[in-house]
Amino acid sequence: MSGDWVFDAANDVPPRHARALIEFADGSRLVFVDSRALGTLDLHAVASDLDLGLGPDASDPEWTARDLKAALATRRGPIKPALLDQKLVAGLGNIYAAESLWRARIDPRRPCNRLARNEISALRKAIATVLKRATGARYTDDDTVTLDVYDREGSPCRRCGTPIERIVQAGRSTYFCPSCQR
Ligand SMILES: [Zn+2]
Repeated sequence: MSGDWVFDAANDVPPRHARALIEFADGSRLVFVDSRALGTLDLHAVASDLDLGLGPDASDPEWTARDLKAALATRRGPIKPALLDQKLVAGLGNIYAAESLWRARIDPRRPCNRLARNEISALRKAIATVLKRATGARYTDDDTVTLDVYDREGSPCRRCGTPIERIVQAGRSTYFCPSCQR
């Protein structure tokens, strides 16, 4: 969930925060740009069988609320850190998880296995909406996407006006509305 890829020419000046440059024989180049330096790159031999241990892709339309419900049924911990577990679902970062829970009106502290079917449906829909809004924009690097809850501690909830609260879960900041996220 960190960084971005830029495709340019090998003799261009590398973009700011370039962390890795992959040059191709035709003179083109792929650059990994990561201002926060949180990303990692792994090198694997050609044709090696990769088992990344990743869950379904969050943006895969075939990943259903039913799949999500089954994955959550065996977990007793709170929902927000679970959404960051790439084994549960791949591709959901801290910001997206908070935004999705706000949109689905779910308290981030709720135990996974206590969420009702309709709440999980709402969460699945919310994840799709949030990811769709994020496509083509860098949530943290520019202002093309307006965040509803992330990094808005003390600001009024866009739905009910209650000040947004920040808590820490599994070492990460979680922002939520204490009034309309139940
Ligand atoms: Zn609210």
